[in-house]
Order: sequence, then structure tokens, then C-alpha cells
Amino acid sequence: MPSTRSTTTRMTGLAVAALLVASLTACGQEARGGSRYKADTGKGGTIGLAMPTKASERWIADGQNMAKQFQQAGYQTDLQYGDDKVENQIAQIENMITKGRKLLVVAAIDGSALTEVLQRAHDAGIPVISYDRLILGTPNVDYYASFDNERVGELMATYIVEKLKLAASGKGADAKDPGAKKYNIELFAGSPDDNNTKFFWNGALKVLQPYLTSGQLVVRSGQTRMSQATTLRWDGGTAQKRMDDLISKNYGEQRVDAVLSPYDGISIGIISALKSAGYGTQGQPLPIVTGQDAELASVKSIIGGEQTQTVYKDTRKLAAQAVAMGDAVLNGKKPQVNNTTDYDNGKKTVPSYLLKPVSIDKSNTQLLVDEGYFTAGQLK
Ligand code: BGC
Repeated sequence: MPSTRSTTTRMTGLAVAALLVASLTACGQEARGGSRYKADTGKGGTIGLAMPTKASERWIADGQNMAKQFQQAGYQTDLQYGDDKVENQIAQIENMITKGRKLLVVAAIDGSALTEVLQRAHDAGIPVISYDRLILGTPNVDYYASFDNERVGELMATYIVEKLKLAASGKGADAKDPGAKKYNIELFAGSPDDNNTKFFWNGALKVLQPYLTSGQLVVRSGQTRMSQATTLRWDGGTAQKRMDDLISKNYGEQRVDAVLSPYDGISIGIISALKSAGYGTQGQPLPIVTGQDAELASVKSIIGGEQTQTVYKDTRKLAAQAVAMGDAVLNGKKPQVNNTTDYDNGKKTVPSYLLKPVSIDKSNTQLLVDEGYFTAGQLK
């Protein structure tokens, strides 16, 4: 049992078990956000925050925002980064359990790798909130806070369709119109072990598929399956190598007109490969390159005319949501959710709160300043 439970630590193990069984039986599954954690109600105690990596700005901001907001709500925090190594994250979570953290908020490195450690959290009576990325294959996830991940993919793909004026050209997406202008596109997906990857991909492909079918969009590499397009651990260098390869094998005389990229760090790698191949000059401008997260370097790249688009997901709002959920769970209340159908982790459909992502290009980077996400000076 967590050391923070002063009332229960005085009891014998048997009495504690009997109490837990009784309270679970009395309250049923519905009470997961409530009475199951009653022994821990009230403010105070330490929240374990397990974040994936410091290699990307967004996770640094997510961790800091949550630490700050949990502290403002009266808790202490234990913030750990797994350096994108699954075994580090598991060890960090184990340590949080041993130290009796009251609640775990986890952005998984590998969504399927936490089953055992979260069983231990469950056995210790510690509730778990899955942060941004859904934790898979375990019933021991109480709530999920994220953005509408399918919408993220739709925003990227819709941007490409509108920028290339595909909907307006020819007779429409589904008609095989020999007169319609054809554009070359290459597709990138996120890390195969991140549940969000398929949501981004499916959202994007839903929008792009009619144009791929009509032939208005052509993937010259032929790599149109998600499994051919994934980028392990969202690594920009891996994406750069793949893009180098795609260009050299498929684009002799031809031009790349658009690249679907699911994350700003991947976009940076893709743009480097394109520049090495001679793109980014007046005679050969860069293609449309999408992105995600509105990271500072990429917003500057958008302003400078290199990356074309990104998807802004305000990490302050996501942190606020996770803090509100955590505080509710620890105080025997039901957290607010707005999606109870889409996020099935293989063992349960996890009640979720999804925030709205926003598409950003050169025309609306000011929004990031207006909302205080960056200062005007940072974007210069
Ligand atoms: C997040 C994205 C992020 C990506 C890489 C995903 O799970 O939802 O916002 O770009 O991980 O860090």
C-alpha cells in the first residue's frame, strides 16, 4: 500500500484487503473514479508524472505545465523523463509506485509495454491517467486526456488538398479526369508503438484517399501503407534518411509536390533531405510539408517559408485537463469526459477528454502570440 495512507498502514494486511474488497463490491466498477481511491481523498501528496523524452519541446512543456498546475492545486510532483527508452520509463513508474505516489500521469513511450507495471500500480491502489497517448492492453487505465487525434490528421491532409486546390481542379476527387493536374506526394507516419500514429494516419488518409484513387495525387514510391511509412520513436534523423532514399529512387526528373509529415521534428528531417536534393531555391521551391506540435523551430521555419503547416495543440490546456481529471479522481469525483467510444485500448474503452487541435500556417502564426504560447520576440 502507498506510504501516504496513514489510516490504512496501521491496519493488518488482511483487514486492508477485506476493506478494499468490501468497498469495491459495494461501489462496483462505476466507482473507479470515486470510492476506490477514497482512502486517498483530500489535497496533498505527490503525483508521478512519467513523460517520454526531453528531445522534443512539447514534452518538456507538458511536464512543466503539469508540475506547475498540480502544485497550484495543492500537490507535489515527481516529474520523470524516459529518454525514449521503454525500460527507463518502466523503471521510473516502478519507482513512483514504490514511493507511494498518489496518482500516475503517463505519456507512454511504447503504449503496449506498461501492462505489468500498471498492474502493480493497480494492486497498490494508484489511479492512472493516460496522457496524450493511449496506454494499450491493460484495464488499469482510468482516464485519457488528449487531443482529437483523428482531427489532427484531417487538418494536415485538408491543408494539402486546399493548397494544391485539388477539390477545385478536374471534375472532383472521384472522377478519373484525364485533364486534372497531378501532384506527387510522399507519406510519413509516426512511431509504430504510439497509438496516436494510426489516428493521425487514418484521419489524413480519409481525406487524401479520394485523390489517390482518382490519380490526382501520386505516391511515386508506392509506399502507401502505414507500415511502410512509420518512423520509429518519431526520430527526425530516421525520417531524413527515408526521405533521402525516396527522392533518390523515385524523383529523377520528377518533383515532390507535398509531404504528409505527422510531427515537426520529422518535418525538419524531411526538409533537410529535400534541401540536400536541391529543393528550396527559386527554380525548385520546397514542396508543401505539414507538421504537428507548433514547436518553436518549426513555427520559425514556417515564417521563414520552409515548413508549410503545423498543428497547434496547446500543451497548457492538455495539462489543465489532466490536472482536473487527477484532482477529481483523488477527491472521489467523476472527471469530465467528452468521448466514451473511440479510445478502446484492447481491454476497455477508456473514458476520454479530447481537446481541439488548430492548423497553423504562415497566415495565422500570430494566434500563437495572441494566446501567449510564444512571445512575439521568440518568433523573430
Ligand atoms: C503526440 C504528438 C507528437 C508525437 C511525437 C504523439 O504522441 O500526440 O503531439 O508530435 O507524439 O512526440
